[in-house]
Amino acid sequence: MDFKAFRTHAHELVDWMADYLETVEQYPVKSSVEPGAILAKLPDHPPDKGELFPEIFSDFQQIILPGMTHWQHPSFFAYFPANSSPPSLLAEMLTATLGAQCMVWETSPAAAELEERMMQWLAVMIGIPRNFAGVIQDTASTATLCAILTAREKASRFQTNQHGLTGQPRAIYASSQTHSSIEKAVKIAGLGKEAMHLVPVDPAYAMQPQALETAIREDIEKGIQPLCVVATIGTTGSTAIDPLKAIGEICQRYEVWLHVDAAFAGSALILPEKRWMIDGIESIDSFVFNPHKWLFTNFDCSAYFVKDKDALIKTFEILPEYLKTERDRLVNNYRDWGIQLGRRFRALKLWFVIRTYGVHGLQEKLRHHLRLAAAFAEKITAHPDFELLAPVPLNLVCFRYRPADVSFSEEKLNRLNARLLKKCNETGKMYFTHTVLNGVYTLRMVIGQTYVEQRHVDAAWSLIQEKAQEMTA
Ligand code: PLP
Repeated sequence: MDFKAFRTHAHELVDWMADYLETVEQYPVKSSVEPGAILAKLPDHPPDKGELFPEIFSDFQQIILPGMTHWQHPSFFAYFPANSSPPSLLAEMLTATLGAQCMVWETSPAAAELEERMMQWLAVMIGIPRNFAGVIQDTASTATLCAILTAREKASRFQTNQHGLTGQPRAIYASSQTHSSIEKAVKIAGLGKEAMHLVPVDPAYAMQPQALETAIREDIEKGIQPLCVVATIGTTGSTAIDPLKAIGEICQRYEVWLHVDAAFAGSALILPEKRWMIDGIESIDSFVFNPHKWLFTNFDCSAYFVKDKDALIKTFEILPEYLKTERDRLVNNYRDWGIQLGRRFRALKLWFVIRTYGVHGLQEKLRHHLRLAAAFAEKITAHPDFELLAPVPLNLVCFRYRPADVSFSEEKLNRLNARLLKKCNETGKMYFTHTVLNGVYTLRMVIGQTYVEQRHVDAAWSLIQEKAQEMTA
């Protein structure tokens, strides 16, 4: 493809992109293709001869699009959002065009220094203390793995990196509501799944600090070394908030690394009224949140902050001859701040997003989501046939259908709600997902998509009621 053709197709694509975003509501939110359907439409072998762009793009529209779930659809209420925004897309286009691989400062000084500044901006925006340093990771899973590896190294005085895991068993603590990425990190870190201690939660699904302390004390008595506690601000199941202050005091008492997983909820810390969630932040060691979830910066962009930057770097440092540069001592070489060597230029999209909306603009968008969620939760509470299943500190509403005039067993209610979810999602008009809280099948409605408005929530609520009535008529 020569540059003339590139220019033509790029213009066409930008038009398509704008049209897509403007009309995304016309697509079914969730793809309904059967497994293997897309694969069957793709040739077994790569083409020997190059093909023209219009053909390729036509196949994108005919084959690929029907197999896409539309995460930027305003009626996407599933999982947690991976929301995006026009300025973020524009930056992503530039990032792809520059095609820089930003592994060390010298391979793109602007990328390294913009990343440093963006992490400082984010720290100020969400209330991370000044003595923390930040780095952009691809995902919260990776950031948590970095935290656990650093905790492991620090506790062994960096001997594990040298000799491998030897000596006494270690333990990692998190609540029973913690995200699966913690267990994955524990396994990758070579600690063994048995090192993972799940701490019970209170009725609001937040970690019980006393139970944590008991677990740590008992482990020490058994000769197990407590390495790290992972507290969650905004659990995946119900956005429960673990009590950081109490957990931090325990970690300090036993000299245990405290990592905070705020993958989704961290964005809400740009709101002064939500800062209570990190009361006790001074005593933590590391913190992660994903601007790619709820801060309008398209996937991937995960912000990782660490108090002891030197320990992080010492954990990952490598210095082969071919990566040495003259400025190594003066600059941040982010290759040593995490797992991967090669790094994308992710700071650019954060810069575009934060400058376009400003902190106030971002705050307004989040408050809008919070208001929509609060109003939806009120409707659930007011309806005799529905019930809330968890507190709503943010914009995730956990609920279920429970017809007031029929007495169903818990098992039957679970099945009924699973069917209700399926029936609503099959319409293509909305997409929400489920979890299980305390053995109860729970519908999860997350109201945080970039383009969501009151009318989308109203339409979803009408659909849920309509399908529920149909099922029990
Ligand atoms: N932690 C929590 C609380 C989450 O909800 C999620 C994903 O939803 C993750 C971690 C994993 O995030 P990522 O996909 O960025 O690894």
